[in-house]
Amino acid sequence: MASADSLTVPEAPALTDVPLPAPATGLPAGPSTGLTPAIRERLAAAARDADVSGEPDRPALALLRESGLLGLALPYEYGGTGADAHGLNSAVAQVAQVNASASIMLFQHYAVSRRILEHGSPALRRRLLPQLARGDWLAASAWSETGAGANKKHLSTVARRTPDGGWVLDGAKSFTTSAGLADIYLVLAQTEEPAPDAAPDTGYGSAGQTFFLVPADAPGLEPDTSLRLTGMRGSATGFVSVRDCHVPDTARLGPIGAAASIIAGVRDSGATLGAVSVGLAEAALDLAHRHAERRGLLAQQAVRHRLVEIAGEVEAARAIVERAGRRTADDPGIATLHSKLVASSAAERVINAVERMLGSAGYVASNEINRYGRDARAVALMGPTNDLCKELVSLPWNS
Ligand SMILES: Cc1cc2nc3c(=O)[nH]c(=O)nc-3n(C[C@H](O)[C@H](O)[C@H](O)COP(=O)(O)OP(=O)(O)OC[C@H]3O[C@@H](n4cnc5c(N)ncnc54)[C@H](O)[C@@H]3O)c2cc1C
Repeated sequence: MASADSLTVPEAPALTDVPLPAPATGLPAGPSTGLTPAIRERLAAAARDADVSGEPDRPALALLRESGLLGLALPYEYGGTGADAHGLNSAVAQVAQVNASASIMLFQHYAVSRRILEHGSPALRRRLLPQLARGDWLAASAWSETGAGANKKHLSTVARRTPDGGWVLDGAKSFTTSAGLADIYLVLAQTEEPAPDAAPDTGYGSAGQTFFLVPADAPGLEPDTSLRLTGMRGSATGFVSVRDCHVPDTARLGPIGAAASIIAGVRDSGATLGAVSVGLAEAALDLAHRHAERRGLLAQQAVRHRLVEIAGEVEAARAIVERAGRRTADDPGIATLHSKLVASSAAERVINAVERMLGSAGYVASNEINRYGRDARAVALMGPTNDLCKELVSLPWNS
């Protein structure tokens, strides 16, 4: 839906013309969203289908659009619902309960929307944010590439200046969630050779890297969803290549060479992939309860106690994600990194425990616990990977 021209025309739409998303009915607390029980059920059905087919979950994306959830990260002035990080984490967790693939599409959309809000020029914000808030456009992050490393220090995607003041991008991105579904991609590219002493090492990204917002229909941008994933199979996580891809300078997000400092600031937002893990852990706990009830297992003290232990783990994961989202810690950035580490590890433990509780029923391939397990594993691998989170927290101790 996005067009290459969309980045060149700095006209603001009349904000009064931007309809607000549908009112809330589904959330017990937090900001207003349209996640109704009916939409939840349809998201769950879509997740089951996409897990079998491995195809991009277009029905789930349509439901995200219908729910108004895509506008949650943006303020009212752009047509969004102005949620804070706690609200975003709650929404991501609630979607993850029924469709984890959709929840990571949502997470990336929120992340890009917020980066444009924080670092976009007034013209770029006016031009793009109402479309993203309405859900007319979906945004994706294309940072990773084969060989760049978890810390994105060795990018082969380059952006070179053109005589007309624009840029030409060349390279291949991998593991881009919403590849082929997104209308706009936040592409990380090397614009200059990093000078060794150019800037302090923030541990994630390097000097001389710059962000560009590239519309899906920009000539030279090609998505490829042939990647077959073990989990998050509906998330359209795939490759995106940019070959001789021309964009105007207005497509640049933030100063030239400043991507690493933008990346370093992301964790301070309090938005965390730990929310995906919380949703998955909650879904697994619910499955265990329903199974125990149906099989009359709640009469067994050992089963009841195991459920209590699992529920405690879920509660702890939820609490640390809530603390990150509320940004009440002395260092909100460290709290956000901790929340991803703790919640993703807790979810994997919870899901393993529930698999054992379900007995042979859980060993049937179609049992949802198996999808939860495969989806939960992805969170630890998503950026910053859990290893890198530890590195980022401990980096200052090594000075
Ligand atoms: C489901 C899914 C969705 C994803 N979605 C996106 C997306 O939308 N956009 C995007 O850009 N990327 C996305 N990714 C990619 C994700 O960010 C990468 O998987 C991640 O950056 C790791 O890259 P790698 O495997 O190439 O790292 P490698 O560098 O090959 O890492 C291999 C292992 O070594 C560890 N390691 C590497 N370097 C360090 C270090 N400096 N310190 C500590 N440990 C280290 C890593 O943690 C990892 O365990 C997604 C991945 C998955 C699985």
